[in-house]
Amino acid sequence: MAAVTENIASGQLDLDLLNPAFEASGPEKIVGWAAGQFGEDAVMWSSFGAESALLLHMATRAIPNIRVIMVDTGYLFPETWRHMEQLRQRLNLNVWVYRTQNDPIAYLHHAGEENPTFRKDRDSCCAANKNEPMNRAMKELAPKAWLRGIRRDQADTRKAAKFVEWSKRYDAYAISPLLNWGSREIYAYMKKHDLPFHPLYEKGYASIGCNPLSCTRPITAGEDARAGRWAGSDKVECGLNLPVDNSLDSSRL
Ligand code: SF4
Repeated sequence: MAAVTENIASGQLDLDLLNPAFEASGPEKIVGWAAGQFGEDAVMWSSFGAESALLLHMATRAIPNIRVIMVDTGYLFPETWRHMEQLRQRLNLNVWVYRTQNDPIAYLHHAGEENPTFRKDRDSCCAANKNEPMNRAMKELAPKAWLRGIRRDQADTRKAAKFVEWSKRYDAYAISPLLNWGSREIYAYMKKHDLPFHPLYEKGYASIGCNPLSCTRPITAGEDARAGRWAGSDKVECGLNLPVDNSLDSSRL
């Protein structure tokens, strides 16, 4: 990896060299590289979802005081908060919670969302309650890079992702060490390090976001892990992990 890190000029990473090299690296090597390259100028995003303990464990071994950004949409499961607290204590996490600026009940009222268990306009809700707090977090904390736990096998929108990408939107590098891992590798790492899954995981929730049924539901046998997210709609991303060079108006994401 030393040969790779030498190919950095004027603060710009040579992504054409880095990414092919990382295809053959394991996630721990990539996280170790990120630690050497960015140190505490890197942050991490975590939803404290189904398998979030894995990257939190890996990241804090390399950067013990890494700032972990968690977005509170106002609609998270109580179990997510318990899971966050459990991991915060176990891994001594430095968690930075960024909250929606909306009162959760008032938002539903003003947005014409009569049923609290179902969102009619999920894009607007994600824009106001998930993307706005994350945009604010990234602006205020101004990291040079962030670690995220996306995997290529989770969604078509993630298949072309690279391990390191420049994000115009966040003015930072997106680092995705787990891209090539699947359920088997995830499970093996969790077991090896005795890491807890989210409490709802064993109830069939393979991917966990907000608690309206329109946004997170348990999956059934044969469904892929993200089938329970925004089920019954075309939506597969909340907007945070859209291709990092997207030019969409971030106020709508
Ligand atoms: S996942 Fe659902 S409840 Fe959460 S911000 Fe998006 S639309 Fe709103």
